[in-house]
Amino acid sequence: MTTRSMICAKCGYDLRGLPQRGGCPECGSTYNKDTLNGIASLNSAYRRSENISFWLKIAALILSALMIMGCAGILSYFAKTPSKPLVTGGFMCCMLLLIAIAMIVLKKMDDKED
Ligand SMILES: [Zn+2]
Repeated sequence: MTTRSMICAKCGYDLRGLPQRGGCPECGSTYNKDTLNGIASLNSAYRRSENISFWLKIAALILSALMIMGCAGILSYFAKTPSKPLVTGGFMCCMLLLIAIAMIVLKKMDDKED
């Protein structure tokens, strides 16, 4: 018996207690516990979901940066001094992008440590 966790590589379903070979009850993809085909370690599945939430945060940061820039662009049409909203918006946009870049750099450094 191995203590290795047996989870579906596709959907992360816990395959412990199921036959050595077969199909995942959750998503139907086939697995083989002997060859570890279609099997992911719990750790890598956890890392994957961690990765997804990380990139969602980055996407949200970049999207809000773009939205701020868009709003600044619209405001500049109505403002008496068109450069003012553009400078403010541009500054906020740059800050958000810098935060996103800093988060990516920190994550890359974190990944290298393993
Ligand atoms: Zn599955």
